[in-house]
Amino acid sequence: MEYRELGNTGLMASVIGIGCEGMSEDNYAMCSRLFDEAERLGINYFDLYASDPDLRRAVGKALEGRRDKFLIQSHICSVWENGQYLRTRDLEKVKAGFEESLELLGVDRLDVGMIHYCDSMSDWEDIVNNGILDYVRDLKRQGRVGHIGLSSHNPLVARRAVEEGGIEVLMFSVNPCYDLQPASEDVDELWADRNYEKQLTNMDPDRQRLYEICQARGTGITVMKAFAGGELLGSNQIAGVKLTVNQCISYALSRPAVSVVLAGAHSVEELRQSAEYCDAAPWERDYAAALASFPKVSWVGHCMYCSHCEPCPMRIDIASVTKFLHLCQAQGTVPETVREHYAALESHGGDCIGCGACESRCPFGVAVRENMQSAAEVFGY
Ligand code: SF4
Ligand code: SF4
Repeated sequence: MEYRELGNTGLMASVIGIGCEGMSEDNYAMCSRLFDEAERLGINYFDLYASDPDLRRAVGKALEGRRDKFLIQSHICSVWENGQYLRTRDLEKVKAGFEESLELLGVDRLDVGMIHYCDSMSDWEDIVNNGILDYVRDLKRQGRVGHIGLSSHNPLVARRAVEEGGIEVLMFSVNPCYDLQPASEDVDELWADRNYEKQLTNMDPDRQRLYEICQARGTGITVMKAFAGGELLGSNQIAGVKLTVNQCISYALSRPAVSVVLAGAHSVEELRQSAEYCDAAPWERDYAAALASFPKVSWVGHCMYCSHCEPCPMRIDIASVTKFLHLCQAQGTVPETVREHYAALESHGGDCIGCGACESRCPFGVAVRENMQSAAEVFGY
């Protein structure tokens, strides 16, 4: 298993985490087997958005005797009422739901307390004005929540929450199709047929900006919907191209600030399949050619951080150099953490000898030599 720092939280999280999507009523009984397998695979991170008390109890039972082996990202504002899930901004319900969730899980703290599912500006304002953000900050002060998180599908709302609310961990929907779509308050728009009928060019700038801002501020991203609910793994008519599990995971993990991909686990086998990413060969992780063959989508000139252009004779990690360059260009300055990461690379933009081998291999027509030169100017070497 590979591990990454989760933003500035100080937590080291496995790049593959367990999402509770897939843990349906039929298989609560298998929670223990799922966590057994996760422990064996070295997976130490899981997300729990569902509020069903039976599920939370089953997860709590699966955690017995090994709480310290897992980092818990669980959702605040996701409660159970009248026998069903409810997303609420009613502070009293939120408080009662939090207490109940700890009790059912059999724990005294969450590593990440995730403010659940905020996709509109007015909802974010409710979170602030109804005292929910202050309540979660209090939980953090009391040590009952390690870090404050928020889940969203909307890059503009997520950005505002990160910038205004001091969100430390963002759970966000990341995959190459959603990344093409502009911000919307309606999550269904991300996969609406009509939005893929027109020609699409490059990543939505608000999404790119969100990832860069998270990276610059040290907000760690945990990814939901990396497979678009499984749609990207079939020959979906919209995407037009079938991707593999490894390609989807690799794509998400290549975005700035992303630390963990939460894999829905309908079965132990499905969890194993996602974890196999860590042993996958570079060609199995390579998503460049598949993306370049998407009908009606053009990423021409836009670096997708895919590393398809390597190897470089000067051993330059072209994707990383380009990513760090973009982070600086977006900030208009060189953030200290980016400077450190750049310094840690084996070779740098200034080492480029201009051979052009990378450009002939890049499926997106990126002007790599120009980028290397820009990086050398920005960082000084
Ligand atoms: S330059 Fe091209 S091939 Fe290289 S990482 Fe960027 S998009 Fe991929
Ligand atoms: S042009 Fe520069 S970055 Fe590209 S392969 Fe040659 S030396 Fe490496």
